[in-house]
Amino acid sequence: MAKNRMTYSHSRLETFESCALKFRFQYVDKVDIARRTSVEAFLGSRVHDALEQLYRNKLNAKVWTQEELVRFFTDIWEKQKSEDLFIVNKQFCLDDYYHQGVKALEDYWNRYHPFDGEKTIALEHRIELFLDDAKQYKLQGFIDRISKTASGVWQIRDYKTKRALPTLQEARLDRQLALYQIGLQHMWDGTENVELIWHYLLFDEEIKSTREKSDLEKLKIETIHLIQQVEKAIDENDFPYRESRLCDWCDYFDICPAKKHLAQVRKLPPREFKEDEGVQLVDSYSHLLVEKSRLNLDLKDLQAKLDELEEEIFEFARQFGAERLIGSDRQLRVTAKETFRAPSATDKAEKELREQLEALLKRANFWEPVSQLNSQRLIKLYEDGELPQFIRTQVERFLTPDTKRRVYPSRLKDYDDNFEG
Ligand code: SF4
Repeated sequence: MAKNRMTYSHSRLETFESCALKFRFQYVDKVDIARRTSVEAFLGSRVHDALEQLYRNKLNAKVWTQEELVRFFTDIWEKQKSEDLFIVNKQFCLDDYYHQGVKALEDYWNRYHPFDGEKTIALEHRIELFLDDAKQYKLQGFIDRISKTASGVWQIRDYKTKRALPTLQEARLDRQLALYQIGLQHMWDGTENVELIWHYLLFDEEIKSTREKSDLEKLKIETIHLIQQVEKAIDENDFPYRESRLCDWCDYFDICPAKKHLAQVRKLPPREFKEDEGVQLVDSYSHLLVEKSRLNLDLKDLQAKLDELEEEIFEFARQFGAERLIGSDRQLRVTAKETFRAPSATDKAEKELREQLEALLKRANFWEPVSQLNSQRLIKLYEDGELPQFIRTQVERFLTPDTKRRVYPSRLKDYDDNFEG
């Protein structure tokens, strides 16, 4: 029976790649949470609205002046802006973003007016595509504008208001528009020649790229593989979180296990912050860690002194011809025995020699008497399902459930970095 799959889109897949836990919150659990709009998303949507209207007018033989374009943008900005828009980069205010939008549209108008370099075919066009012949893997998306040049080249255009300009190499690897190309080529005839065009509006830059048939075939396989990874995560309920700068824009920050304590304590005034139970536990732990590392340093120092002294003691005992030396409240038995050492397993300089020795013992069927069970490796093979079934069931009898607890300390600055946006 065909699997009942969710309909995927580039942005869903991108969410999974950037943080699987966010994907779970948003698309699997569909957590009922107040979704906030970031000022960046608001700016992007309003600029898209303005450009869509500009080209709708053009389709009806009306060409906006620059003032009309900016006025339309200003009107919808004013009507739709709200107190709820959130701004991560606090050094900027809502007005700064408005002016960025105006500047981007003015540059666009100056660059493309009178907008007849190519013919617009469709605006905000919904596209659906299948990645395989059996039509099991389906994707959908919206193309900002589809156009066609006089020489018959179809163009898939995407407006971006991101503050990072991709390199040509990054554009060449971009998945979104290439997927749309697959959909486009199924929808219309004569679409062999397709150009992918990104308008990086804040930079007044246009980036173009093309895909060969073989690139698209490879992309289909990679995307199916990614969907299979998503489905495996769903089947196994395995959605690890991945912290990044994007966390600042994440709607699930307050419920995310990586962020919920931070979300709670950063609202507290300094005194209450210090009184928070979690903060106190971390501070105590951190204090002991510092103490431990200081003691470790002292220990290393002490060990070096002991080693040095031992050398002197051996030399003294050898010269004196004694095996026992007497002190005020202790005596030392001093022995020296000539023996051997094998190449170390931990010293990198001896790694190769060690491997040669192991290989030699294996070849000589003498590995077993000198090796021992590596429990960690066994458990890993067991957990990863890599033990053959016949041995797996037998090994199982020896394994008992256990909870491995680990605390990974890191400097608080790591959090701050995440919050610079
Ligand atoms: S806050 Fe960050 S780590 Fe947590 S779910 Fe959102 S994106 Fe993932």
